[in-house]
Amino acid sequence: MSLEFGDRLMFVGGEFVAAETGEWMDSVNPATEEVHGRVPAASPADIDRAVQAAAAAQPEWAAKSVFERGNLLRALAAQIRARADQVLPLEAADTGNTIASLGNDITLAAGYIDMMAGLGIELKGETVPATGQNIHFTLRQPYGVVGRIVPFNHPFLFAGAHLAAPLMAGNSVVLKSPDQSPLSGSVMGEICRDVLPPGVINIVSGQGPVAGDAIVRHPLVQRIGFTGSVPTGMRIQRSAAEVGIKHLSLELGGKNPLIAFPDADPAAITKAAVAGMNFAWSGQSCGSTSRLMLHESIYDEVVSGIVEHVGAIKLGDPRDPASEMGPVNSAGHYQHVTNMIAVGKADGATLLTGGERPAGESFAKGYWVRPTVFGDVTMDMRIGREEVFGPVLSILKWRERDEVLAMANATEFGLTAGVWTNDIGTAMGMARELETGLVWINGGGRHFLGTGFSGWKNSGLGREECLEELLSYTQSKSVHIML
Ligand code: NAP
Repeated sequence: MSLEFGDRLMFVGGEFVAAETGEWMDSVNPATEEVHGRVPAASPADIDRAVQAAAAAQPEWAAKSVFERGNLLRALAAQIRARADQVLPLEAADTGNTIASLGNDITLAAGYIDMMAGLGIELKGETVPATGQNIHFTLRQPYGVVGRIVPFNHPFLFAGAHLAAPLMAGNSVVLKSPDQSPLSGSVMGEICRDVLPPGVINIVSGQGPVAGDAIVRHPLVQRIGFTGSVPTGMRIQRSAAEVGIKHLSLELGGKNPLIAFPDADPAAITKAAVAGMNFAWSGQSCGSTSRLMLHESIYDEVVSGIVEHVGAIKLGDPRDPASEMGPVNSAGHYQHVTNMIAVGKADGATLLTGGERPAGESFAKGYWVRPTVFGDVTMDMRIGREEVFGPVLSILKWRERDEVLAMANATEFGLTAGVWTNDIGTAMGMARELETGLVWINGGGRHFLGTGFSGWKNSGLGREECLEELLSYTQSKSVHIML
């Protein structure tokens, strides 16, 4: 039987290749449960081949000037924009994210690459007046081969954006696509083939504990950038530590509070709370503001507005531009999300809307969950503390400022937070005391390239989307010229 998207090969050393073992993994359309494509299941031998190709290409790549590398990266960004029509239907079908929202992934990926291309000249060292007689300076040099491992929620965006800093810094890259949504990795491979020298970028597919682990443990991969869950981040730290001293950055999960003070406009909070849940991606975003903390004085008004808005979200085929929400990404993730909904009910939260499969023939198959809102959530409930990474909003009520601050900080996560108030003192105090890598005041959801994105506590290690990320893909060296 021919599959809609066929067999999608890995991109290694400038060629499209299958796994040496001939093994394949199915990719399933989450809206229909049909297998719609296959990718090779890379073994450690395939990973070695990719790393060796990257290592062979890296010296010549690093020898180019930052302007040459920057120009090639800008060409890559232009090609990503130009191929949007090719990638969007495939990405919508493979992830379940709505096609209407996915245009933003193209814009962000290309913008991210352009930003890193522009920052190239900042890869500079320092001269240091350590003595009066000699010359002392520092150099920033690439690591060599960088391993990048990305999650299922925005695979094309992450494949594009996460190539940018390591490449600009003069490294070559081996990137692993997620096994639930691997198909767009091959489109990124085609784009790279047309723009970059062979071997500079290598895109592999395969299971995390096999192919991902082989990247982490490979002796030529000294720098790893990972985006995914906390448990996998911890596993990667353990694997890396077993084989050597590796440099890691980890962008992990979140349970992000959106905090509304009594002076906040209930209509604006309602809108921000619904937008912040990223229902167009079924809530599957690390930055989703999945804990809404409402002051008791506005609780009832905001809750009823949210229930009305969320109840009106139009579920449908992710490839239909009119759809506002698709299915969750995979069978395994559907199990997790529906289990967490059951846990929320059992723990005594009030189910306000959703919590079940939508009715109708078109939702009989697929991993569909209606957008779900729980009220009366408290921090001793699992849906108050744990990441669902799905279309499930938990609403909590509070009375005192110190109480809500303590609630907001009482999780293992520290990714983002939103604070809604017009009182500058309250806003600044909260911004300082929230234990997160990012705080929005009277906002939410948006990333601002250049300003940095990072998790505190178990949400991560290292900082992305800014100059710090670019520099983190270099190692520095002191040079002393004795005169
Ligand atoms: P995941 O299960 O941790 O997987 C992420 C990636 O790691 C996948 O490519 C996976 O491969 C691979 N992997 C799994 N086990 C591995 C191992 N032992 N060694 C090396 N690689 C391994 O995460 P996910 O379920 O795809 O994504 C959801 C999570 O990502 C959420 O927690 C979300 O908050 C987080 N996230 C964070 C950010 C951020 O910027 N902070 C952004 C997006 C998502 P397989 O797919 O083959 O298992």
